[in-house]
Amino acid sequence: MFGYVKTQCNRIKKPIFAARRNIKMQLSFPKNTLKAVLFDMDGVLFDTMPYHARAWTQAMTEVGLPFNEYEAYLNEGRTGASTIDTEFVKFYGRPSSQAEQQRIYSRKSELFQQYPPAPVVPFALELAQKIKTQGLQTLVVTGSGETEMFLRVQQSFPGIFDREQMVTAYDVIRGKPHPEPYLKALEKAGVQSYEAVVIENAPLGVEAGVAAGIFTIAVNTGILRSEVLSEAGASLMFNSMKELYDAWDNLTH
Ligand code: MG
Repeated sequence: MFGYVKTQCNRIKKPIFAARRNIKMQLSFPKNTLKAVLFDMDGVLFDTMPYHARAWTQAMTEVGLPFNEYEAYLNEGRTGASTIDTEFVKFYGRPSSQAEQQRIYSRKSELFQQYPPAPVVPFALELAQKIKTQGLQTLVVTGSGETEMFLRVQQSFPGIFDREQMVTAYDVIRGKPHPEPYLKALEKAGVQSYEAVVIENAPLGVEAGVAAGIFTIAVNTGILRSEVLSEAGASLMFNSMKELYDAWDNLTH
């Protein structure tokens, strides 16, 4: 009833569920090997999620798809196309067409851009600066396609995040929860999974980090129950970026 995989070392078949559990157990904070910290953007660097949730809810309900803000938080991290497709399959029993995806996503973007600029999450800048002064690489890994936000990353976090080092919706075929965005970030940084740490606020983002084999820290800056993030596989959990900022020196020294 369970799928089977072959391990790389001895090619003995093991149940997938056991392999997944082993991966989780093997992950520990890479204190001595840490070279890069991979930051999610929405909900980690910027407090944009209330706006995203409102814009998604309106854009979906305008075309007759039942949707609410809690669902927007649960779907956070998916590319726009994937979010729309998931809802189409759920409610219409068929995938969305490219034209439908484009129409709904551009409406969602239009609504999102009407809101005032979202503030930086408290202590996100201080944490990123601290990490940079430790000589570690800092990268942004986001499912977002909001190009305005990419400019804001550079303006609000000057000298910390390089645009060339960002992984966005335009760089991947499969968005979070697939590991591709984080695997691409490892490639850009030129580091291995045990040399990086992920900071995420969304369950699908946590799943993506864990699936890429990276130690993943969840910071619950939104409205979701904390259990949702631990069930997604987070190795550590904080209730705010300030909590993580306060703990960072102990984690890394
Ligand atoms: Mg996020």
